[in-house]
Parts: sequence; C-alpha cells; structure tokens
Amino acid sequence: MAAANKAASPVAPFLRATPSDTAASFLRDAPIKAAGAFFIDTHCHLDAAEFDADRDAVYARAVDADVAIQIVPAISRDNFAAVAATCERYSGSLPAWGMHPMFIDVHRPEHLADLRAQIEQQRPVAIGEIGLDLFVKNLDAATQEFFYVEQLKIAKEYDLPVLLHCRKANDEILKQLRKIKVRGGIAHAFNGSPQQANEFIKLGFKLGFGGAFTWPRANNLRRLAVSLPLDAIVLETDSPDIPPVWIGHGRNAPGELPRIAQTLAQLRGMNVADIREATTRNALEILGPITN
Ligand SMILES: [Zn+2]
Repeated sequence: MAAANKAASPVAPFLRATPSDTAASFLRDAPIKAAGAFFIDTHCHLDAAEFDADRDAVYARAVDADVAIQIVPAISRDNFAAVAATCERYSGSLPAWGMHPMFIDVHRPEHLADLRAQIEQQRPVAIGEIGLDLFVKNLDAATQEFFYVEQLKIAKEYDLPVLLHCRKANDEILKQLRKIKVRGGIAHAFNGSPQQANEFIKLGFKLGFGGAFTWPRANNLRRLAVSLPLDAIVLETDSPDIPPVWIGHGRNAPGELPRIAQTLAQLRGMNVADIREATTRNALEILGPITN
C-alpha cells in the first residue's frame, strides 16, 4: 500500500510513518520525553475480522483518546499478511510476528521458517503472540510446547522481546523462560499469583493488565493491580476480546485504554496522568531500545 494511503495520525509529528519505517526505528525515534503524553495498547488485534466494518473509525477513536501506539500481534503464519496490512495503514500500529498456542491445528513446523522470513522482511517490535494455553481443552500440550520453545529460540536469536499468552500455564511458561533467556517481554493478560508475577519480573518481564481487572468480582486481579510495583505493569486491551465491565459482553476496542487506566488509577489512589506516564515508559522499556 502506498504511504499516501496510510491514515494520518493527528497525535504527534513523530507518529508520521512511511513504509521504510521499521517498528524498531519508530520506537527508537519516539522521544522518551513524550512518554507521558500518550498511551500504548500493548496487545490489540486490530486486524481481527470483528473490525472489518469500521476499522478506520476504531483506530481514529483510539488516536483521539491518545492511544498513539497499538501493538498488533499475529496469531498464525496465514495471519501475517493481515497484520502487516493493518500496520501499514495505521500510524502507530506496530506488528509482532508469532504463532498463537490456541491455533496449533494450523501451525506446521515449516511455518517457523516463514516466521524467520517475516522477521527478516519486517523487523517486529516483538515475537508474539506465543505461549501456552492449558485452559482450553483439546489443545495438545506437547505441540504447544514445541511451538512455544522454538519461537523462544527465534526471539533469542533475533534479540526480540516476546508477547506471552499464558493461560493456566504460568509455571510451565516460566520454566522455559529460565532455560531460554530472551530479552524480556510481556506476560499478556496476566492472571497468576504474586509469586509467579515476581518470577516474571525477575526475568525482565512486564505484566499486561486490561479489561479483566475492571470487573468488580475480579478479586485476584484487582489485588495484583494494586500491590504489584507500578514499574512492572503495562496496559492492554486485547481487542476485540476481554471487554471491560462498562462494555459487558460486547466488542472491546483500543479506545477503551484510557478508561482502563482510569480504573487502575482509582484502585491505586493515583491520578491517571501518572499511570499513563509510568505504563507507557514501562512498555517502551520492553518494546523499544529506549533504556532510560
Ligand atoms: Zn491476543
């Protein structure tokens, strides 16, 4: 797609992107001083079919809400093109390449070579979405483990962080992270114990919080959201999934991120601007080469 077709972002001049902009250079060039001025949705399936009818409007609403960066993780080899097209069209939408554990039926070992080719063609901000899902029945654990481990090796080889899906599998996920030392990443939609949270943090990971903790009955998540060190937390929507309580069972969207941040601010007795600055800084620390 031609650069001229890329939807312009009204947020900030540094969001001007061209086809030659890699995700890495985008993040490298994002001035760290601006970190307080925008949100990062660290997990947003903006390419999903649920957005086919109104994706431009969903994106525009996110940008209006200062959600200037949306990380768009792929879920399978056949999905790389849709993620690439989405990130080509929208300034601030940045890809992660990977194969999701819930789709092991479509993954093939030879797709790992396609993953490498995709990384070579367009360097992503991360490898993802990868991981383990021991909650959904009939997903063969050994096959999941194979693709998880092989993709960790690729992340290490390319020195990229990882976006982890770790449902009912935190200990199994952590076990491999201790063996294959990737450069950190995000435990997306984290829902584990404080001890597991600490293990992720020790390994250089941030913990992704989104719509789930906005539900009043999510006691475990709300306790974590309050008690974890703020520098361990990043925000995400997982759009179109994991809707916050004010959406109920409807479609989630990246424009909801500020209200999710507001909920976190209320729980922690902070103001939302401080939550925004901290979580954006945390996300850049993981996803960009910005270290300070
Ligand atoms: Zn996801």
